[in-house]
Amino acid sequence: MERHTTVISQPELDRQAAICREIASYWKAEGRTPLAFVDTYGCQQNEADSERIRGMLRACGYRMSDTEEGADCIVINTCAIREHAETRVYGNVGALVHTKNRHPAQKIFLCGCMMGQPAVVEKIKHSYHHVDGVFNPHQLWRFPELLQSVLTRRKRIFAVDDSAGNIAEGIPVVRASKLKAWVSIMYGCNNFCSYCIVPYVRGRERSRRPEEIIEEVKGLIAAGYKDITVLGQNVNSYGKDLDCGVDFADLMASLAELPGDFWLRFMTSHPKDASCKLFDTIASHNKICNQFHLPFQSGNDRVLKTMNRHYNRAQYLELVDYGRKVMPNLVLTSDVIVGFPGETEEEFEDTISLIEQVRYDALFTFIFSPRGGTPAAKMEDPTPKEEKNRRFDKLCNVQNRISLEIHQAYVGKTMRVLVDGRDGENLTARTEGGRLVRLPGDDSLIGQFIDAKITGCTTWSLVGEAVL
Ligand code: SF4
Repeated sequence: MERHTTVISQPELDRQAAICREIASYWKAEGRTPLAFVDTYGCQQNEADSERIRGMLRACGYRMSDTEEGADCIVINTCAIREHAETRVYGNVGALVHTKNRHPAQKIFLCGCMMGQPAVVEKIKHSYHHVDGVFNPHQLWRFPELLQSVLTRRKRIFAVDDSAGNIAEGIPVVRASKLKAWVSIMYGCNNFCSYCIVPYVRGRERSRRPEEIIEEVKGLIAAGYKDITVLGQNVNSYGKDLDCGVDFADLMASLAELPGDFWLRFMTSHPKDASCKLFDTIASHNKICNQFHLPFQSGNDRVLKTMNRHYNRAQYLELVDYGRKVMPNLVLTSDVIVGFPGETEEEFEDTISLIEQVRYDALFTFIFSPRGGTPAAKMEDPTPKEEKNRRFDKLCNVQNRISLEIHQAYVGKTMRVLVDGRDGENLTARTEGGRLVRLPGDDSLIGQFIDAKITGCTTWSLVGEAVL
């Protein structure tokens, strides 16, 4: 199969690496270590991109700061998925005027999904003059070059393109955690769900070569990472654009067969592409967590059709049944949208009945938020906000009850958990299914898999004690 994805060439990547060294020399000649602050909004994909931005900044000689105050370079990695996130970005970017007034040499960049929208870029250009540079997700690999231009030519840069996207391998990474790592296996989305901006701002689906992903994961295991999540907007269509006959289930099997003591997870799956083969692969590999995030969005077929989701309620439920048949302990989570344009009370009740039937461990619940440029933003939406809020509250109450009931069933069980940090007096840990466990213990346990006996719970977390 011919591959249409643009793969950024090695000479181009070498050129960016050389620019990093030039910037680092510039700062060395200045006699100081510059500070950089990277702020991330949105999903894990953005977190993973920010880790690469930090990697490039470090290669340019910057030290990471946890505040914008006094930073020589600020990068705001934005999210376009909901209006609320965009409003927050505008507010926070606006406030940077004062920060920059106190530190006029400061360079401010905006990137991420919001910068994939031409109207947003225009607004930044004309109303946020203190922003020095803007780049969209396709231009991320060129960040060193953009930073150098801003530093040396002292003029604003707007690097945005409307290409279908690219793949750039070998960009340096500074990971936020020493225990948990995100690995992007593909970028973009081909699905065009009618409410979603992602395909417009992140381009078409393109998969990294399996050998590159396997090498990256091998490196993470060797570095001691214990919880590795592979990422894509729709991981189930991984490999469709490659010519090597490797699909997502095959890739997961290859990763799970690597030596070492680690957990593998993945996000996110589109139900239309989730296969029984994938469920079988998870069930037959201990290192792949028995956890599936399978967004259903609505329990009503008409709404699903208007959302352009390409599956119906019955097909979704069949998939869940199969998953539970091969993995009785499957931890199932999902996304749901309340108040999609035209959703009737009856259609909303279909969503409630699906939740009751599936009994998710947890749900990510959203009230519909129109995104300019998507078909759903133009749909008639007669339901008042108060009514949407009422439906939302009802749905949350149903799910909270189910989450609590599921958590109560854990009490008395002993489970393998990965201790990942401390929150006040307690250690925090995650089960294989991603459930949060709080337990007493000392910091020497952080980074270890241990057995924990579950002694109590709330709706959102479990309480336990280490079984040593
Ligand atoms: S599958 Fe649908 S919701 Fe998910 S990123 Fe693609 S278009 Fe958006």
